[in-house]
Amino acid sequence: MKTVRCRENIIPRIFYTTIVMCIVFFIGCAEVPITHRKGLRLVPKSELLSLSLRQYDQTLKKSKLSTDQEKVKMVRRVGERIARSAEAFLQESGKNQQIKDYKWEFNLIEDDKVVNAWAMPGGKVAVYTGILPYTKDETGLAVVMGHEVAHALADHGNERMSQALLANMGGMALSVALANKPQQTRELFLTAFGAGASVGLMLPYSRLHESEADRIGMVLMARAGYDPREAITFWERMNKKEGSRPPEFLSTHPAPASRQANLKTYIPEALPYYKKPLK
Ligand SMILES: [Zn+2]
Repeated sequence: MKTVRCRENIIPRIFYTTIVMCIVFFIGCAEVPITHRKGLRLVPKSELLSLSLRQYDQTLKKSKLSTDQEKVKMVRRVGERIARSAEAFLQESGKNQQIKDYKWEFNLIEDDKVVNAWAMPGGKVAVYTGILPYTKDETGLAVVMGHEVAHALADHGNERMSQALLANMGGMALSVALANKPQQTRELFLTAFGAGASVGLMLPYSRLHESEADRIGMVLMARAGYDPREAITFWERMNKKEGSRPPEFLSTHPAPASRQANLKTYIPEALPYYKKPLK
């Protein structure tokens, strides 16, 4: 009897799940520029943007901003060039209306121990002084900035936030989650956008997102006039810093050898843009 009842229940459940999956697929999926992968986006952009603005302001207030004008100017100059490159791609892919969602801001936070950078929705970017010894020059910084702006352009944070809300809060809407569990929701947000981690540029993202940000980032930097081949030397310097690490399957970090191999395969796609950058 039990078996029969189970079977009776399973059919409508499968039907229901299929309907939900179809709705999620058609309403909640968006295409990533350049790689054309489809990703889950369940959080409304307006809610994500307002949370982002609040969190960005709070983070800046709690942090010590760099007063080294030369470095601050460099971060803004490279950031603006990468941002223009990202906007050109949005324009060409018929997504002009998305350009207004980005109010780009690039700040340098004074903390030599933090080897990190992140981008929140709406183009709110922070770079920590701790990463500058590894970026070395403007092109190295363009690798980091390209990578971070790529995460923002591909909406990886929304995808992470959607997955986290489904997994940890039973698919609760962001506004409801914020009202009911404000602290937990803010932590999910910071982790989803990389602002919660201080140990590495790529820690909070999956390997799929990391590879995608590497690939898109190289195209963005090339189009902004920076040599994308420098991405390989930047990641070599970062990998030397990291020292011993767990095997690849235990870690969300791509193993250095596979990351380097992947970066090399992205060069043919990025290089033509470097030879014909934006004016
Ligand atoms: Zn990353």
